[in-house]
Amino acid sequence: MAYYTDNSKFDKITNPSAVWGNEYGPGDAVPASGIYRCIGCKKEITSNFGDKFPPQNHHQHPVQTGAVRWKMNVWTNTEGK
Ligand SMILES: [Zn+2]
Repeated sequence: MAYYTDNSKFDKITNPSAVWGNEYGPGDAVPASGIYRCIGCKKEITSNFGDKFPPQNHHQHPVQTGAVRWKMNVWTNTEGK
């Protein structure tokens, strides 16, 4: 999980869009800038809107953990709103 020092600096989203619930694979387009967590191993990455998620060889899982799939953990406010 991402770490923070003061959660009052974060806004909890009450009506999450599909960006939060969708899973993304290696090489998929990043839908929004933020921190993404691998569902299988909990490794986190930061990715920017318009870039692509890391390629398949970014990291490996044991067979039982399944494929690398990314899910949004923190949506960064890059517009300063
Ligand atoms: Zn992983």
